[in-house]
Amino acid sequence: MTSSSRGGDRSQPRDLAMAPDEMLDLARRAAELLVERDGNLAAGDAWDGEFGEGLAPLLMEEPPEGGRPAQEVLERAAREILPYAARLDHPRSFGFIPTSPTWPGVVADFMAAGYTINGATWLTASGPSQVELAVIDWFRRWLGYPEGAVGLFTSGGSAASVDAFVAAREAAGHPERATVYMSDQTHIAVRRAAMVIGVRPECTRIVPSDQDFRLDMEALRRAVAEDRAAGFHPIVVSANAGAGSTGAIDPLEAMADYCESEGIWLHADAAYGGFAAVTEEGRGLLRGIERADSIGLDPHKWFFQPYEAGCLLVRDGSKLEDAFAIRPDILQDTIWGANHPNFTDRGLQISRSFRALKVWMSVQVFGMAAFRRAISKGVELAARAQEHVLSSPLLEHLSPGSLGVVCFRVNPADAEVDETTLERVNRTVLARVFWEDPALMSSTVLKGTFALRLCILNHTTAWDDVRETLETIERFGREALAAEAAPQ
Ligand SMILES: *Cc1c(COP(=O)(O)O)cnc(C)c1O
Repeated sequence: MTSSSRGGDRSQPRDLAMAPDEMLDLARRAAELLVERDGNLAAGDAWDGEFGEGLAPLLMEEPPEGGRPAQEVLERAAREILPYAARLDHPRSFGFIPTSPTWPGVVADFMAAGYTINGATWLTASGPSQVELAVIDWFRRWLGYPEGAVGLFTSGGSAASVDAFVAAREAAGHPERATVYMSDQTHIAVRRAAMVIGVRPECTRIVPSDQDFRLDMEALRRAVAEDRAAGFHPIVVSANAGAGSTGAIDPLEAMADYCESEGIWLHADAAYGGFAAVTEEGRGLLRGIERADSIGLDPHKWFFQPYEAGCLLVRDGSKLEDAFAIRPDILQDTIWGANHPNFTDRGLQISRSFRALKVWMSVQVFGMAAFRRAISKGVELAARAQEHVLSSPLLEHLSPGSLGVVCFRVNPADAEVDETTLERVNRTVLARVFWEDPALMSSTVLKGTFALRLCILNHTTAWDDVRETLETIERFGREALAAEAAPQ
């Protein structure tokens, strides 16, 4: 066999390469395993896991010096590793924030990896950069953001918050004694962003929320005024556009008015709830978000994409690049015309995977109407779950239903049960659902009260999944209350 005319002898086997038929066999088997998993998903549990003592003996081994057959390695991963995890895409996955990626999105990640795309610069990835611009522009329009806003894909909402906070800090002139503001419902990712940009922990002001878990505007005004009087420099206020615990949306319009008048950067953390904006109802609920200086989004949550896919949009695009663009010698060849952005100039990553492709491919395949319906379905199912809770004599509703989240607890209407007992009963219910029921549910604490929490986002979920889970909770609740009442 002769080697190709370019680049030397290719007839020798290469250490880290596979023959084409082996490549195909491996990829085909991987696809088969995933499709089988998808078919079996609903019949199994939403969670499986194992203690370290069980896993370590299987996996803490020396790497083999010689290789093993690829199919065998793949089967082992599929048998011994991947099943021991939450199945976040299960129809009864209601814990934390679930996600159910679409298949074109999964395949897009495979394609992006296979093409070895590095989305750092236009020179290394012009096609991918153009798609990233296109998808970011979809997001911009869905949120009602003005032209001139720019953005980038990130690993998730955490990285988006960090990038936003850097831009805010630089826009404020990187002052000494900087302070930042967020409600007691704000995600830890945002607190961490403040930490990462060098705000001292005691300068992160946690503003109380009202009885609907929305930031208290009066408290914000007071905190900022006191800080200014004491010589601090407020640089950013972070608003929840869907808080993780309850789905609560902060008073975005009022916060935008206030931040505008005070000249403080307003960041909207919409990692959880932002994509509700593609529906008419969601757009109404999120009104005011378009006035924020920056918005963090997570397509890997309510836009049905595989991890990792986060996104940051900044209203005045130049503020993002002013904060991040450094043009080192090693990248001197990457400046390709004034109108070609280099995404590395917009955030902390240099080497970047091509995350926009998954959104682009899945939207091309299914169309926006399907995405809109899938997002609306989550809101509708959560509203039905809330009705069920409100009409149940055994359940107490604990937060106004918002954006797919329902918080409640077992608390019988016809009996006085003290708080300590109630917490014990609800913890028992949570543990029994975890160990005995196919559903995965988690809990939160709302104004000091232990709450069960269902987050209903997956496009795989049907009403029966929600209803049966609620009925199981009621049954476990009755049993736990009976056990408490029984003489010791
Ligand atoms: C998930 C989430 C984050 C953090 O995003 P990651 O994608 O996990 O990094 C921040 N804020 C809210 C409201 C979230 O739901």
